[in-house]
Amino acid sequence: LAAIAAMATAALTGCGGSDDKKGGGSAKAKAKVGIILPDTKSSVRWENFDLPVLKKAFAAAGIPADIQNAEGDKQRMQTIADQMITSGVTMLAIVNLDSNSGAAIEQKAKAQGVQTIDYDRLTLGGSADYYVSFDGVQVGRVQGQGLQKCLGAKKSNIVYLDGSPTDNNATLFKQGAHEVLDKVTDYTKVAEQAVPDWDNQQAATIFEQIYTQQKGKVDGVLAANDGLGNAAISILKKNNEAGKVPVTGQDATVQGLQNILDGTQCMTVYKPNKLEADSLVSVVTALAKGQKPQTNATSNDPQGHRQVPSILLNPVLITKDNVKQVVTDGGSGITAADICKG
Ligand code: BGC
Repeated sequence: LAAIAAMATAALTGCGGSDDKKGGGSAKAKAKVGIILPDTKSSVRWENFDLPVLKKAFAAAGIPADIQNAEGDKQRMQTIADQMITSGVTMLAIVNLDSNSGAAIEQKAKAQGVQTIDYDRLTLGGSADYYVSFDGVQVGRVQGQGLQKCLGAKKSNIVYLDGSPTDNNATLFKQGAHEVLDKVTDYTKVAEQAVPDWDNQQAATIFEQIYTQQKGKVDGVLAANDGLGNAAISILKKNNEAGKVPVTGQDATVQGLQNILDGTQCMTVYKPNKLEADSLVSVVTALAKGQKPQTNATSNDPQGHRQVPSILLNPVLITKDNVKQVVTDGGSGITAADICKG
């Protein structure tokens, strides 16, 4: 984690700490950012972690931020963006609901002189100037490594519950997980299905169908986030198999961490939301001053045939052994009490 912290600090130095004290004030006064989160259902992270952490980070930087949630509705996201632009935001950061609707929002914003940033999800065919996220392929690798650790070296049938087919991150997560697990000759992929919009209820239905088709011969589940993992665990519970079949996750949600502690979930991926929020602040601050934001990567947009300058952070593998790290480093605001109650 020290490495991540160092990276975030490095990203932050790009916005010129000393400048802030001298002449940065006026540039900042002009900046106003609009941030649109995607929904409340695909993961609790958006409302529980990102919203409060982003609020804090922008308040600390002295930059006004209007943060709203599109509630899973693409039209609503466009309407919110329009309203934000009318109200005078100078920059717009979105977590798209799919690339097409995201690209339309970005194009319209750009046409009105508003700079755009992709937050967490890359908009394929979009026009965002910058992308701030975690390294998605590495997230998938960490999930694969976690599952491999839980399964060990024995013949295993693996089911893959992938994220939404409209989310470029889901593609990256899947790529990383396969990179690790496909190499292990003991492992057989018996089924793989994407879950539309990361919908947890659909995930349970999909997993139950697969489980029935496989006549219960499932040894491990690569679930793309904690919500999908919990859906699989609910079906395993019905079949008295929870805790015997390792299931992966992502987001270090309270539910996911509780599942890890009670042994029904093998691992989760912790992506300290504060680092992502701070990275967005660093990009916004630099842009507001007319400076070039500091980035550490470029992301390939195959649809737009372009490379998007990016800050990509490092995800952290969490198992029973280091659950404590999530509550002690404060990156998402979860406390030990949150995990221990309920
Ligand atoms: C995010 C994950 C999240 C998922 C569902 C992805 O784009 O990177 O953290 O679990 O969307 O909201």
